[in-house]
Amino acid sequence: MTQHPNAWHNALSQLDAVAAKIGLESHIHARLRQPKRSLEVSIPVVMDDGSEQIFTGFRVQHSLDRGPAKGGMRYSPLVNEDEVKALAMWMTWKCAVVSIPYGGAKGGVACDPKALSQSELERLTRRFTTELLPIIGPEKDIPAPDMGTNAQVMAWIMDAYSSHAGFSVRGVVTGKPLSIGGSAGREEATGRGVAITTREMARRAGITLAGASVVIQGYGNVGRAAAQILSKEFSCRIVGVSDARGGFYNPRGLDIAQIGRDMTTHGALPAQIDAERVAGDEFLQLPCDILIPAALENQITTQNAAKICPKMLVEAANGPTTPEADLILRDNDVVVVPDILANAGGVTVSYFEWVQGRDEYFWAADEVNRRLERIMVNACNEVGTIADREKVDLRLAAYISGVGRVAEAIRVRGIYG
Ligand code: NAD
Repeated sequence: MTQHPNAWHNALSQLDAVAAKIGLESHIHARLRQPKRSLEVSIPVVMDDGSEQIFTGFRVQHSLDRGPAKGGMRYSPLVNEDEVKALAMWMTWKCAVVSIPYGGAKGGVACDPKALSQSELERLTRRFTTELLPIIGPEKDIPAPDMGTNAQVMAWIMDAYSSHAGFSVRGVVTGKPLSIGGSAGREEATGRGVAITTREMARRAGITLAGASVVIQGYGNVGRAAAQILSKEFSCRIVGVSDARGGFYNPRGLDIAQIGRDMTTHGALPAQIDAERVAGDEFLQLPCDILIPAALENQITTQNAAKICPKMLVEAANGPTTPEADLILRDNDVVVVPDILANAGGVTVSYFEWVQGRDEYFWAADEVNRRLERIMVNACNEVGTIADREKVDLRLAAYISGVGRVAEAIRVRGIYG
């Protein structure tokens, strides 16, 4: 039977492990175990056939200690409060690991975006935004794209928010289209950050990147950009790719440029690829040097961890490995590069977008990429140094860095009232 571990329990157990390791004060630990603010809303939507359907949406702000809350909006049938709470907590650590001045948030609507028409999606998004008006805003909480949402959804959020404000409020979302204040490089930023982290941590682990075999689960915004940059710029051999319908494997290497040209729908691989078809369950067990889960949480569990043996596993998705599976991977000498470091490129360029919007001055793509490179390399060096100094794995090292920064902000601000 498939196991569905609870992402919130996983997030808490990761926090508890680092709290014990760094001797975190119990009052700060207790504060960080709870989100600062959590809102559940019902979203009535008139469907194309004239009927009315009620959707449930969430926005959770885990921490506001280091700045406004920041995090994606997910549209998926699996969205629930615990998942959103976990994702919000991970955003707090992620922003702190790369040292950008935000707290963590996440939101989502339980819906199947593929089953909705564009106009239903637009009405859902505009009404959801209206329900969130009291808590979002450029100084408060700034949504961004995540699974099932994209630049168009961000444009609708910005437009709905701006219509209520009476003027254009660009800074209320990031991941917007370029024509309304998006940043060059944002679309591929998470994948580029994954590629940079893979390169830095492979060097540290003594893995030669040129020619290394790579398997990528999930071929949406993140997986696809990571595949393109790893193959084109870093000469990796991408041997396996998958989407929700299953995977493809070719040990000689897949033609990533051709796959990109043949894709017709977002996140869906072409029906024909010069490769063997692999069922979802077996996909993560394919032989490779580097495995990159870039789809969903809880993909690597006690059920399959022992059979997953790359040299390095780079968590492009949020929370793909359960804490129990993490121990099995560690025993098998798999270097795990944690999500809060590996996929921080997206929020970093979101931060750049917000900064550019405030300055009304926009940077060229090469400048965005240069600044992203510097932040990701610094964060990798810091996490690597902590891992060496404390003799811990990269996840615990990243948590020591991230949780340490948030705890310091809480300490120095003190308690009001
Ligand atoms: P997306 O919706 O663009 O793509 C998701 C991909 O995963 C699609 O190809 C889909 O078919 C595939 N998928 C879904 N279920 C699957 C399954 N069971 N097996 C294999 N593939 C499956 O989403 P995205 O934006 O690329 O996000 C992917 C992950 O990266 C999520 O965990 C998200 O939270 C995380 N992430 C995204 C960003 C970002 O900027 N988009 C930033 C940080 C982290």
